Amino acid sequence: MTDIAYLRQLRIPTTEDPLRILMSACLAGVTCGYDGTANGTYPSALRLLGYATARIVRFCPEEAAFGAPREMCDLHGGDGFDVLDGKAKMLSESGIDWTDGIIEAAHSMLHLAQNEKIELAVMMDISGACGSQVIYDGNRFGENKKYQIGAGVAAALLIRNGFKVISQRDFASLELLYHKLDPTHVIDSSRIDHHQTDWYLEYFKDSPKLNTTAQL
Ligand code: SF4
Repeated sequence: MTDIAYLRQLRIPTTEDPLRILMSACLAGVTCGYDGTANGTYPSALRLLGYATARIVRFCPEEAAFGAPREMCDLHGGDGFDVLDGKAKMLSESGIDWTDGIIEAAHSMLHLAQNEKIELAVMMDISGACGSQVIYDGNRFGENKKYQIGAGVAAALLIRNGFKVISQRDFASLELLYHKLDPTHVIDSSRIDHHQTDWYLEYFKDSPKLNTTAQL
């Protein structure tokens, strides 16, 4: 779940002192995805590259750990917090245990965030490394593709260390961010975050994690 109150109190940045934003590299157009692409095009995130009042720091934890292209990988037995706690694993599509590598890369991303004094992270939802709202539950290419509420490993480590993370699908949060970066931007109050969508509320209606406030 996103932290709207945090976004509201973010400072108004200037070109001399831009807002320091950490982004999943693929959301910024870097071809670091498992298949050597940028995992699609997300205008809601790419827009952030155009603000002189934002300084974008890019990082791809999976590429740092396993290169690109690489096998697809997902979390098995829990979310990114569970991986950090030794209760779940990241496995490649062919079943290779990539848990240690992704934890090491998550720490590299955390050190980058700390060194760069990042004020907000905008990360790719669904990814077992970068997701912040929804990730796959097991192999996404398996027979019964499933989703779970939760963060990927790198996002979980950032959140656990006090950083706030939103995804490219958190449109209400992004509206607030656009307004901070350009006060002439009129906030579209009809936009909603991913956890407020009909799909999310229906899919996870029986999940004990529904309405939990992991980042608050
Ligand atoms: S690990 Fe993160 S930055 Fe890298 S391709 Fe996956 S979602 Fe994008």
